[in-house]
Amino acid sequence: MSKRKLSRRQLWRIDKIQQEREERARRSAQRAEGALQEGHLGTERTGLVIANYGTQVLVEASDDRTLRQRCHLRANIDPLVTGDRVAWRPAVDGAAGSLGVVGARLQRHSELQRPDRYGDLKTVAANIDRIAIVIAPRPQPFANAIDRYLVAAEATGIKPILLLNKIDLIDHQNREALAEILQPYPQLGYPVIRLSTKTGEGLPQLLRTLAQGTSVFVGQSGVGKSSLVNALLPDAGARIGALSQATLKGTHTTTAAELFHLPGGGDLIDSPGIREFGLWHMSEQSLLEGFVEFRPYVGRCRFRDCRHQDEPGCAIAEALQRGAISQRRMNSFLHLRNSLQRQN
Ligand code: GDP
Ligand code: ZN
Repeated sequence: MSKRKLSRRQLWRIDKIQQEREERARRSAQRAEGALQEGHLGTERTGLVIANYGTQVLVEASDDRTLRQRCHLRANIDPLVTGDRVAWRPAVDGAAGSLGVVGARLQRHSELQRPDRYGDLKTVAANIDRIAIVIAPRPQPFANAIDRYLVAAEATGIKPILLLNKIDLIDHQNREALAEILQPYPQLGYPVIRLSTKTGEGLPQLLRTLAQGTSVFVGQSGVGKSSLVNALLPDAGARIGALSQATLKGTHTTTAAELFHLPGGGDLIDSPGIREFGLWHMSEQSLLEGFVEFRPYVGRCRFRDCRHQDEPGCAIAEALQRGAISQRRMNSFLHLRNSLQRQN
């Protein structure tokens, strides 16, 4: 990934922001050590990071959802994001403003990353089990846009599913096109759940699907992600607001990811940044490997630099002819690859 050239002034600003961030982290770590020495802390237990505020995080005890505390981080701890599991010690004296201390980050089984504005990949949430790609009859879905989300999900190793929202808007004009667009997915291992946040149809099935593990909702603007979060968690908006006020005094409130427990079991991590997952540059190799049904043929073409279009001995073209790859997915792949080339 190429980095943009930065002006001297920009570099100076980045440097300054970095210094300030380090200073805040140092002070927070000092307070953490202070709290440890003063002995206002309970015994160490495991917890879950519900929200991350830079030098502090909100932690929930793994064995007691009613125990939630803001925590300082010990020095030299691995960086934390929402969804991280941690070893922590809660504050016990109950004094207003007393904070717990996080001592260590536990191992992650997955990471959701996105590029920061300098093009470096940054983890924004951890331990996600499912990426739910939301689409709708309106705004009109495009096959290659759906495939682009799937490719991005495949690159993380997290299981994607498709949610067709607004099924109340399906009519004789869009029914066939929608069916055609969605047709390849179930047999590729991507379940499609149909629902309407407006009528409530399909929501019970969605809750059952989300009842295990941690999910995120992604998808283009207007497909109904906010409506969906509100339908599943009526008081989520209010809670985010309260949390932000109590802990943040207005900084970074709109981008911080937050973890919610769903009413039917399972968790949801949500933030505006997470919803935009997958809309950035990807490499040609991850594009190719992100089409799961292409994988058995990758590296099997006669020519190592095969473009998979008209070359003799192309393993992917042969699979297409045999019907092991659908024309619809092949078109999508070629479209996405051509748009990658135009970007480069
Ligand atoms: P987001 O940009 O993905 O968060 O989408 P929003 O939740 O803001 O929804 C975009 C628009 O779609 C809003 O006007 C919603 O009221 C509408 N909407 C959401 N879900 C449904 C649905 O199931 N049916 C219909 N007809 N409209 C919906
Ligand atoms: Zn080929």
